[in-house]
Amino acid sequence: MSQTHALPVRRPDDALISCVIPAYNEAAHLADFLRDLRAMLESFAVHYEIIVVNDGSADRTEEVMAGLRHEPGLRYLSLSRNFGKEAALSAGIDKARGDAVILMDGDYQHPLALLPQMVDLWKNGIDMVYGVISDRSGESRLKRWGTDMFYHLMESGAPITIPRNAGDFRLMDRKVVHALRQLPERNRFMKGLYAWVGFSSIAVPFVPAERATGVSSFSYRGLSRLALAGVTAFTTLPLRIWSAIGVAISIIALLYAFWIAIDTLLFGADVAGWATLAAGLMFFSGIQLISIGVLGEYLGRVYDEVKKRPLYVVARDIDNGPANGKAGD
Ligand code: UDP
Ligand code: MG
Repeated sequence: MSQTHALPVRRPDDALISCVIPAYNEAAHLADFLRDLRAMLESFAVHYEIIVVNDGSADRTEEVMAGLRHEPGLRYLSLSRNFGKEAALSAGIDKARGDAVILMDGDYQHPLALLPQMVDLWKNGIDMVYGVISDRSGESRLKRWGTDMFYHLMESGAPITIPRNAGDFRLMDRKVVHALRQLPERNRFMKGLYAWVGFSSIAVPFVPAERATGVSSFSYRGLSRLALAGVTAFTTLPLRIWSAIGVAISIIALLYAFWIAIDTLLFGADVAGWATLAAGLMFFSGIQLISIGVLGEYLGRVYDEVKKRPLYVVARDIDNGPANGKAGD
């Protein structure tokens, strides 16, 4: 476990705990999961609310949730379409009323058994408790290599440190949530935003369980997109890399031109060298196109930001208010 500057405060035992569950096509196990989550919350929390955000699921999630609509402590948000996990989490965070807000996947991959420990750490004064995957050996080599590359880039370019292998599974104090909600950006890379807001935090290691049913929504393509969002949101290193390459190539070109001039003066001109010319031309057009592409990547995101569209649209909002758990009896 790692820890930073926790204040010696003791938070009240009767605090309201909010649990945000983003759900995209989780119908097959959602009812079971919510039942187990409720049982766990009732075992240690006096007041709690469960916020389920249906992120435009294409399966029976809406039906399952209609069946649970009278459950105490339930807040059900249904987004008008699939906006992506980051937006679904933002929707849940915006509506959460708890003194502490827990973010958790709805597929059993984040262990429910860890919740009492996380809440305990928070009660002892820590503002953010985040889960860190302690064993990634089950993942493919390509995925681990990609993750490594991503963190290297972030570490060398971003002014903040994003803890490795930490995900969205976490507990945040009210003031962390408040700070997160102040961040207006559309390009929402949550892992970076959690780190950006700061506050005292502690890591708890966990081994993710197998997905209950179905498959992960994050393909290699989805993960690459997420990584690109993170890199562009938190570092301008890719832009600076191209400036450095430009300077290096200019210096080399200048030296080469100098050498050609000397060579021509000493030995006269000859017409050979078209192959070098053609190859050089193609190489440098490629370099230019790539650098324009990198520039475009940032420009596109600036465009997204200036449009100021909302992050998500809520189609249905059922609010049963917080529930009183048995722990208080
Ligand atoms: N999720 C979501 N919107 C999406 C994709 C995923 O709300 O567009 C939710 C999903 O229901 C789950 C969590 O985000 O609760 C993590 O998704 P998943 O299990 O597919 O990804 P992984 O576990 O591989 O990170
Ligand atoms: Mg999952």
